[in-house]
Amino acid sequence: MGQGVLNNSRVDLLLADAGISRDRRGSLLSSDAALADIVAEVGTPAFIYNTDVIRTRYQNLASALAEVPHLICYAVKANSNLAVLKLLADCGAGADIVSGGELNRVLAVGFDPQRIVFSGVGKTNEELQAALEAGVGQINAESVEELVNLASLTERLGRSANVGIRINPDIVADTHPYIATGVGGLKFGIPIDRLPRALEIIAAAPSLNLTGLAVHLGSQLLSTDPYRAALAKLLGIVDSLSATQRGSLRSLDLGGGMGIRYRGDEATITPDELAAVVIPPMRDTGLQLKIEPGRYLVGSAGLLITKVLLTKESGGRRIVVVDAAMNDLIRPSFYDAYHAIVPVESLESSHSVVDIVGPVCETGDFLARSRDLPPVEDGSLLAVLGAGAYAFSMSSQYNSRCRAAEVMVRGGEWRIVRRRESFEDLIRGETADPFRGEW
Ligand SMILES: *Cc1c(COP(=O)(O)O)cnc(C)c1O
Repeated sequence: MGQGVLNNSRVDLLLADAGISRDRRGSLLSSDAALADIVAEVGTPAFIYNTDVIRTRYQNLASALAEVPHLICYAVKANSNLAVLKLLADCGAGADIVSGGELNRVLAVGFDPQRIVFSGVGKTNEELQAALEAGVGQINAESVEELVNLASLTERLGRSANVGIRINPDIVADTHPYIATGVGGLKFGIPIDRLPRALEIIAAAPSLNLTGLAVHLGSQLLSTDPYRAALAKLLGIVDSLSATQRGSLRSLDLGGGMGIRYRGDEATITPDELAAVVIPPMRDTGLQLKIEPGRYLVGSAGLLITKVLLTKESGGRRIVVVDAAMNDLIRPSFYDAYHAIVPVESLESSHSVVDIVGPVCETGDFLARSRDLPPVEDGSLLAVLGAGAYAFSMSSQYNSRCRAAEVMVRGGEWRIVRRRESFEDLIRGETADPFRGEW
């Protein structure tokens, strides 16, 4: 074997994370379904999600935390396809939602409302009312102002609300600045110096019950240190509460953030490592541990399959133009994120350095830059790995591009779980002639 894709142990690790193997000729299989066969029918670009990977990740996390009462609330924004949601609901997950749209999605697939946490810095009264009417388990408030509003809204509606206070713990987690959320001065959470005021508002509002304290430290975290520090802060706050304030408290919510491998050489947080950090401090508290993983559950389980349109040379660089673009996967453009890209059908050991770009009219429209890739031809298929989280859910129709199809694989079987959009989908709701020709 040469130094090509097959022998690359980092890529092998990423493929294993994705539930991908190779057949005898080297073509990629997701579980037992050939990726090339799937896209021969559904076309490209297409997202393909592996059911087994998602379920296994959920189960590993649940069994690692089994020693303490816990609830794993899947962060819906990572991937909100109904089939992904239904799979996780059937696994027993709760849900962490950040909008009325996500509320409707999780209710539509049968999540137990009691297992829903409603997060977000700017919830509208319409969204809050819908959440209250659905009976969501907890509303995590991110400001004193939100609590004041929620107190009067619940009173007006004659309803009560279980509230969590999302603390901004001022913990700097080592991640991309756009996905660090637990640092002071950002828009997220209630700073600790405003906590007494938040508690006063809740105490004065008969319609509000303080049921939780929460944090969310950031995303793609690769160390347990921020979790350890945040849990210590939350437990310190619990100790400082009066008996009355503590009386209704049921859970501590450590948010999401568990990272995944994108390059193949990252040391990620395993469920057991997280458990080792959080279980001992939680054990004697009598409180439930909530966590809100998004990326960890679905990120590695998804691939974006794209087709090479052409290869060109410019300024001494080799540029491979593919049919997926920043509207399908914005993470490289938005976060400078790295996604491994491998040929679906080639085991060539030679490779050259290329930029892999989409057709969108933006310089920032690229999937990868200066990347080693075996030779590809027009029509070659490429698999973009780590495309299960913050991929389709952040996609758009920019450049009037129809959004990609989504497919779910289980064993050797696969099903379309969102059909490719059509021109009718693109223009739905638009009116070309609002003033009947009188401009
Ligand atoms: C985005 C988000 C999550 C999920 O983050 P991941 O890094 O995908 O695990 C969890 N909780 C809240 C409040 C979030 O905003």
